Amino acid sequence: PCTDFDMAYFNSYAHLGIHEEMIKDRARTESYRNAIFQHQDRIAGKVVVDVGCGTGILSIFCAQAGAKRVYAVDASNIAVQANEVVKANNLSDRVIVLHGRVEDVEIDDEVDVIVSEWMGYMLLYESMLGSVITARERWLKPGGLILPSTATLYMAPVTHPDRYSESVDFWRNVYGIDMSAMLPLAKQCAFEEPSVETISGENVLTWPHVVKQVDCYTVTLHELESVSTRFKFKSMMRAPFHGFAFWFDVEFDIPAIFPSNNNTRTAAFIEPPNNHDIDGTQRKKRANPNEALVLSTAPEDPPTHWQQVSYVHLIYVFSCAWARGVCAAHALTCSLNNIGPV
Ligand code: SAH
Repeated sequence: PCTDFDMAYFNSYAHLGIHEEMIKDRARTESYRNAIFQHQDRIAGKVVVDVGCGTGILSIFCAQAGAKRVYAVDASNIAVQANEVVKANNLSDRVIVLHGRVEDVEIDDEVDVIVSEWMGYMLLYESMLGSVITARERWLKPGGLILPSTATLYMAPVTHPDRYSESVDFWRNVYGIDMSAMLPLAKQCAFEEPSVETISGENVLTWPHVVKQVDCYTVTLHELESVSTRFKFKSMMRAPFHGFAFWFDVEFDIPAIFPSNNNTRTAAFIEPPNNHDIDGTQRKKRANPNEALVLSTAPEDPPTHWQQVSYVHLIYVFSCAWARGVCAAHALTCSLNNIGPV
């Protein structure tokens, strides 16, 4: 059943601005377009479902790549516009817009490919990965393709002197008044809430830790209910530790079971992210750079609308003696039902 939360969520996607922001995010949109054309041999002549089609852009890329039929599903009223766009591009015979939830609409076809842009802030915040799982279970043929295929959530300790001073040192002199008495409270409150902001490679104190890897072919709802991790960091720089930043990447790969694949995906899974250096340049060096296309939201990569999420509760400063420690699970818990305003 469609809850009030769902209604508010889908209404937010009826506004054009949010789609404009996503489409103007070139790293995002071009990664999807490249991935779709890179997998053209598995899309041409095939049936595709676009889970949460929005304006229909990914569906149209798939049609351009030769898909026989694309079911473009969206529960938001943006689906009405998507249908107009499809018509205006003379694609109505191949792109079928279904205005409804993936959980509710009927598709009487076996589906070869699922494409979806489901990622939220910190990967899983408000994420619709659950709807991708539903689509996979309802329609995807055995051996079908899912784009993207995997997602990885990273965390790393960061130094954030500017932000720290903005919200803490600020109280030392307020219109000439010494409000240092506020400092303890300011320190307590400063980083209580996670904040979405762009940080740079220079803020990152050491190699990131993999918090969660998602295999879109096998991930279950149960697995996403709670995400916990244990970590231990050793800073590579002498700088004050202010907390942790989170970011993610997704890969557009093909499952290892397909003969055309040279197992990059498996390699990506086994390999720890130790191929990272701190010089703020190219941190993600892949074993086989030609294989999987990666959409990265890392601080050293071109910025995206997802930015990064800094989460700095000062309690960690005490409990994590200089960037070492065991993370409290609640900081990393994202509920799929956690739907609210962005
Ligand atoms: N694919 C588009 C839009 C991505 S935004 C693009 O790449 O630009 C995600 C979209 O998924 C939103 O429009 C939202 O309304 C839709 N969505 C989220 N959950 C859904 C569900 N369960 N069923 C149908 N649509 C959903």
